[in-house]
Amino acid sequence: MLDLFGLSHQNKMLLRLYAMPLLFLVGTFIVLIAEDILQAATATPYMFNVLYMALWWVSLLLLGVACITFLYSTFLLWKWDKGEAAEMCHICGGIVTDRNGKYGPYYKCLACGANRSMYR
Ligand SMILES: [Zn+2]
Repeated sequence: MLDLFGLSHQNKMLLRLYAMPLLFLVGTFIVLIAEDILQAATATPYMFNVLYMALWWVSLLLLGVACITFLYSTFLLWKWDKGEAAEMCHICGGIVTDRNGKYGPYYKCLACGANRSMYR
């Protein structure tokens, strides 16, 4: 596998585990910046506008989803660290996620990227 940044398996696992909350957090800031740019461009900052409010609510929703996915990722990491994870990688012992593929459901390791069928 191509390893551009020289990350260890454990660092890759953490990066993949927290990628989703990070994406939602970046989305929150993008929506807030877009709302700011729109407000500055229209030059009616004190007028109530449905679009600004909608963008503000979307950014709040994205922030909420980022918090929930962060807490879930941290919960998965905590369970894995205690050795109580429901499933672990059969090769390296890393955290696995459930996926659904062409040949049925399988586990994918977040550390080494190995796949294993759920039914074996
Ligand atoms: Zn693995």
